[in-house]
Amino acid sequence: SVSAEGLFVGRLGADQFAVLAQVEGAQVDAFLARAEEAVRQPIHAGGGQLQLTAAFGAARFPDDGAGSQDLLKQAEIALKEAKRRSADRRVFFHPRFLEAQRRQQRLEAEFREGLERGEFGAVFQPKVRLETGEVVGAEALARWRRPGGDIVSPGVFIPIAEELGLISRLGVSVMRDACFAAARWRAEGRSCRIAVNVSPHQFDDPDFVGQVETALRDSGLPAELLELEITETAAVSDPERVARIMWPLRSQGVRLAIDDFGTGHSNLTSITRLPFDVIKIDQQFIRALASDPHAPAIVEMILAMAETMGQETVAEGVETREQADFLLRRNCTIGQGYHYSPPLPPEEFDVFLRSWRAPSHRFAA
Ligand code: C2E
Ligand code: CA
Ligand code: CA
Repeated sequence: SVSAEGLFVGRLGADQFAVLAQVEGAQVDAFLARAEEAVRQPIHAGGGQLQLTAAFGAARFPDDGAGSQDLLKQAEIALKEAKRRSADRRVFFHPRFLEAQRRQQRLEAEFREGLERGEFGAVFQPKVRLETGEVVGAEALARWRRPGGDIVSPGVFIPIAEELGLISRLGVSVMRDACFAAARWRAEGRSCRIAVNVSPHQFDDPDFVGQVETALRDSGLPAELLELEITETAAVSDPERVARIMWPLRSQGVRLAIDDFGTGHSNLTSITRLPFDVIKIDQQFIRALASDPHAPAIVEMILAMAETMGQETVAEGVETREQADFLLRRNCTIGQGYHYSPPLPPEEFDVFLRSWRAPSHRFAA
């Protein structure tokens, strides 16, 4: 059992509380565990039942700080760390969190500057029609080119952009790059469709549709050559909203693709209600084709479902000829991955287009 003396509880914010307790050193963790247990107890209200969860950040006197201000700040830093976690959400302050926080703040400041200075652009990864080996499209992927020449991957800066509320600006700049590039390919006689990733946060921008229309108008790209990719997770979280926002664009010919398909754990009913033209099978299933005995069946199931619904299919992360052959035999429409090409900067993509020869084994059959 744990006993605390001089226990004070105060509310700091809408959903944030401070607990000040005098607890024997070795029992602090047990104290937090009991607090968590208490929060988790179901609350019966209005005939229903509520269950709360909480994250805990703790700082110790005098080890972590001598003053109340310091302790409170450090507890908040620990809390931030705890909130990031999905399990083990009782976290004690540690000086390394300070360093991580400083690094994060520096990165955020640099991100803002980079956006001002136009350091963000798109690279393009070809999409190949499996049956003929033609390049029929490309996906635009955002890249951050730092002044020193370093290239930062979207896994790092997309979350920052979302957190800072700047994803809409970043998204528009990538979309415009992509539309202008595709319009140029078209002027050179190649009708390559261009796919652009859309973060669900961009739907919060009331002018999202206007931004897409402006990019199309300014670049002169026909709407039919633009495809927007939305992850399955984002799509099923609010299908009506996706449908409502996409309707005016789809009616102009813009196509909609469901990205990372198979990772969103959505049920069949919600999927069939979504207004999608293209299903992109997540690369984890393609990677697992040779190693996981269930993977071929999952891929076949997705392909069969897409065929029934009249949707085109894109396999992501195709790295080997064996994977490409399997997908071709199962009537997957399009392949994308290192087997064909990594994402390329615009000039290199132009060279790729000119020198691309369809893999010869396509015609052997
Ligand atoms: P995604 O949309 O699933 O993009 C595919 C990712 O797989 C890309 O990573 C691509 O470089 C990588 N990839 C392609 N072929 C292969 C392959 O054969 N093997 C392997 N192992 N990987 C392959 P990247 O460029 O780092 O992008 C990561 C994610 O960041 C994207 O995943 C997308 O969700 C997001 N993202 C990228 N650009 C944008 C953007 O402009 N806006 C938004 N909202 N998200 C973006
Ligand atoms: Ca994508
Ligand atoms: Ca994907």
